[in-house]
Amino acid sequence: MIFNARDKITRGLLSLARNPLPFNLYFRHHFPLPSVILIENTNCCNARCVMCPREKLTRKPGFMDFELFEKIIREVSETRRKPIVHLHGFGEPLLDKLLPERIKLAKALGIKHTYLVTNASLLFPETAKKIIDAGLDEMKISFYGTDDESYRRTMRGLDFSVSLSNVREFVKLRKSMNKKRPKLILQYLPQKTNGAATKEFKSMWRSALDKRMGDCLNISSPDNFGGGRAYNPVGEKIASVCFYPWSALSVLWNGKAVTCCMDYNGDQEVGNVNLHSVKEIWNGSEMSDIRKNFGRLDYGGFPTCQYCDWVHRQ
Ligand code: SF4
Ligand code: SF4
Repeated sequence: MIFNARDKITRGLLSLARNPLPFNLYFRHHFPLPSVILIENTNCCNARCVMCPREKLTRKPGFMDFELFEKIIREVSETRRKPIVHLHGFGEPLLDKLLPERIKLAKALGIKHTYLVTNASLLFPETAKKIIDAGLDEMKISFYGTDDESYRRTMRGLDFSVSLSNVREFVKLRKSMNKKRPKLILQYLPQKTNGAATKEFKSMWRSALDKRMGDCLNISSPDNFGGGRAYNPVGEKIASVCFYPWSALSVLWNGKAVTCCMDYNGDQEVGNVNLHSVKEIWNGSEMSDIRKNFGRLDYGGFPTCQYCDWVHRQ
């Protein structure tokens, strides 16, 4: 299971957890480690997408030290039930020169599923080869335009033809290297700036992907990004339990652990991996209190959650 606010599957699961009582009965216990750990290798980005609240980012830009990354990966790979590892956060992961080394280390230590989301603008053949060789399992590509103009208006700062060529070449390269991974998910968000051209998007990519490898398209919709945007109305009443604190943990590039990837400014800190182990944070008092509060639909004290459209959906 890949956590992404825009995934239909995640929304479907969330809809099962609307009532706090059965939710609490079902989720009274949690695993000793998160099922998914989201590790932000960098919060720098070369784009300014319209649906992304980057202009509100107050955190210092930076890249995670390799030593800190190694500490996290070693800790989470010690158990039999190893988490899925996401290698991105609030930034473009391919800006990180150490990315292939990070993937390699995670795979060498037995992480079964590594995943990242990229805008593909830097997915040039040399980098692509390194990523494939390192053993990345799955890669989602955000591609929010169907021609130069719609792409430029939505993924501001990026070049349509460069990203298009990178994705096409990537599929060819993976085939020529005789590799089955990473599987590709090509994502589109229909919206005003790109003319909501879903049909064109589908026909543009249908034959370019390799279905035998599991490649697929994903059509999603913009979300509020924890209050960074206002695409979906949020009322007073919280309607759903968010299952993140039972399933996933996000670590920002500087080691601060936060409730989830929507918390792009790190306002909802739950610990720091420079000072504590992932296990200590996951099983610590901060996380226990959050589980209790979320289970009661009490999101007071969690400013990002209060504006998150996930928990307001009926
Ligand atoms: S959506 Fe991704 S690519 Fe676009 S500005 Fe945000 S982090 Fe960068
Ligand atoms: S912002 Fe809060 S409610 Fe929304 S997904 Fe994250 S943890 Fe859950």
